[in-house]
Amino acid sequence: MIDFLSEELRLMKEHNLYRSLYLIDGPSEPKTIINGREMLLFSSNNYLGLATHPRVKAAAIAAVKRWGTGSGGSRLTTGNFTLHRLLEKRIARFKGTEDAIVFNTGYMANLGVISALVGRGDLVISDQLNHASIVDGCRISRATVRIYRHGDMEDLRHILSESTSFRRRLIVTDGVFSMDGDIAPLPQLFELAEEFQALLMVDDAHATGILGDKGAGTVEYFGLEKRGIIQMGTLSKALGSEGGYVAGSTSLIDFLRNRARSFIYSTALSPPVIAAAMAALDVLGEEPQLRRQLHANVQFLYQGLKDMGFEVLPTRSAIIPLIVGDAHKALALSAILAEMGVFVPAIRPPSVPEGTSRLRITLMATHTEDNIQFALNAFQKAGKKLGLI
Ligand SMILES: *Cc1c(COP(=O)(O)O)cnc(C)c1O
Repeated sequence: MIDFLSEELRLMKEHNLYRSLYLIDGPSEPKTIINGREMLLFSSNNYLGLATHPRVKAAAIAAVKRWGTGSGGSRLTTGNFTLHRLLEKRIARFKGTEDAIVFNTGYMANLGVISALVGRGDLVISDQLNHASIVDGCRISRATVRIYRHGDMEDLRHILSESTSFRRRLIVTDGVFSMDGDIAPLPQLFELAEEFQALLMVDDAHATGILGDKGAGTVEYFGLEKRGIIQMGTLSKALGSEGGYVAGSTSLIDFLRNRARSFIYSTALSPPVIAAAMAALDVLGEEPQLRRQLHANVQFLYQGLKDMGFEVLPTRSAIIPLIVGDAHKALALSAILAEMGVFVPAIRPPSVPEGTSRLRITLMATHTEDNIQFALNAFQKAGKKLGLI
């Protein structure tokens, strides 16, 4: 009966779509052990090094001692500790909104918020390059979905102008796009949302802790606070913990507490995870040099790669896409780098459009100049070997 499993697996392998997991034997730091070998890690989302920051770790340990390891219930039953509420208020303060709600992951936040806000008879309009969790949120909402070309405001306007019969319309976009590292044109998106009376939601998974003077994300970066933009984000990337959140008006958050199924039907996050996120927000405010160091590291690596002749996309985020084009070449580049002790996986279709296979390089504030110089040397050797530069 379950013979189809081995057949499907065989087909995946035949089409080069089969994936296996890397085994990381240590924390998400610049130098770590991957599949048994010491490597320099250039693909972690622990952008500011907060997952291993002494204060963040200490907060998690203290929380276990005081509150235990599990919450023992969902938020609406017995899992709603004062800690959870404190974190939500802390996030609202950070984002400059009336309130916030924490979900167990960013993935669950997107599922919960999109399916709570729109349903049958409504329309979601989504950027072509939005994250899979937004795509899945749109699917389970049962709303009609229209996709606009990446960052194309004319295309979005066109869709808005011919969809006036829907009950509600929601425009949704990544703040920083995860595979390209570019920033959504939020001011233009906001104007269109106003003009056509649509809701606007931004997913700041890769912008939280990175963009804006306080690191509060794309809304702060563009000075669009108090405009009613629904701000979703994660605690799992620059903040070094786990969980997702939505920040917005009191009524939005109250509504989500009552309607977001991924919030209601899942056990509340464990105390150490909540305490770590809270400590990370404190560190973010008190150690702005981490963000400055991250951006300096990005510029150093970016400029080095560009000077060598690689096709790298300009970026203000922690993500540097190095475009190779051909999927096999991207894999080869990644393999040669790994051979030299630099870990950057290749990203191929269907994760990115055909012909744009790439290495998705990410920096951390904790990379040293030596680490980056080592990577640059490796890229130069590998790039020459493959005729890319
Ligand atoms: C990582 C990511 C998510 C999911 O967040 P998790 O906390 O990992 O579940 C959502 N949206 C975007 C854009 C992401 O990059």
